[in-house]
Amino acid sequence: PVFLKSITIQGFKSFADRVKLELGHGLSVVVGPNGSGKSNVADAIRWVLGEQSAKNLRGSKMEDVIFAGSNARRPVGMAEVSLVFDNTTGIFPLDYQEVVITRRVYRDGEGQYFINRSSCRLKDIHELFMDTGAGKEGFSIIGQGRVEELLNQKSEDRRTMLEEASGITKYRMRKREALKR
Ligand code: ATP
Ligand code: MG
Repeated sequence: PVFLKSITIQGFKSFADRVKLELGHGLSVVVGPNGSGKSNVADAIRWVLGEQSAKNLRGSKMEDVIFAGSNARRPVGMAEVSLVFDNTTGIFPLDYQEVVITRRVYRDGEGQYFINRSSCRLKDIHELFMDTGAGKEGFSIIGQGRVEELLNQKSEDRRTMLEEASGITKYRMRKREALKR
C-alpha cells in the first residue's frame, strides 16, 4: 500500500503558517478541540489529490481554501499543500525514494500542481495514483456523515468505490480509452 509520510500545509484554511505533520506507519490519529482544524487536514489531503468541488471542501468557492485572516493575522495570498509519499518499495513508477505531490492556488484562481517539484497536470497525478490503488477519490477518506451514505448507497455506487480502492479502476479506464480508438 501507499505510505503517506508527511503533510506540509501553508496558507490553507486555518493553517496560516507552514505546518508539517509527520505520520508514522500504521494508524495516525488527529485530536483537538472543536474548530481546531482536524477536518481541515483531511480537506488538505483531498485538495492536493485534485478535489475540484469547493462544496466537498466545505466552502462555497475555491478561494475559501486560502487562509482568510483572523484577529491576529492578515489574510494570505496563496495556499500550498504537499504530501510526501514513501517510494522505497517502488510503488510509484518513478525513480525516486520519495514522491512529493504539491498543489498551490492563488486568490486570482491561478493554480499549479507539482510532482517532485516539477510542474505537472492534474491528470499526471491521477495517473500516478491509479497505478497504486489509491484513486482520485482521495485515498478513501471517509468524511463525517459518509459512513451512513456508503451504507445507503446503491450497490453500483458502492462497487465503484470498492473498485477504486482495490486498484482496478485504471484497467477500466484503459479499456475505455482502447475502445475509443
Ligand atoms: P470539529 O471537532 O468541530 O469537527 P475541526 O477540528 O474538524 O472541528 P475544522 O472544521 O477543521 O475543525 O476547522 C474549522 C476552523 O477552520 C474554523 O475555525 C474556521 O474558521 C477555520 N477556517 C476554515 N477555512 C478558513 C479560512 N479560509 N481561513 C481561516 N480560517 C478558516
Ligand atoms: Mg471536524
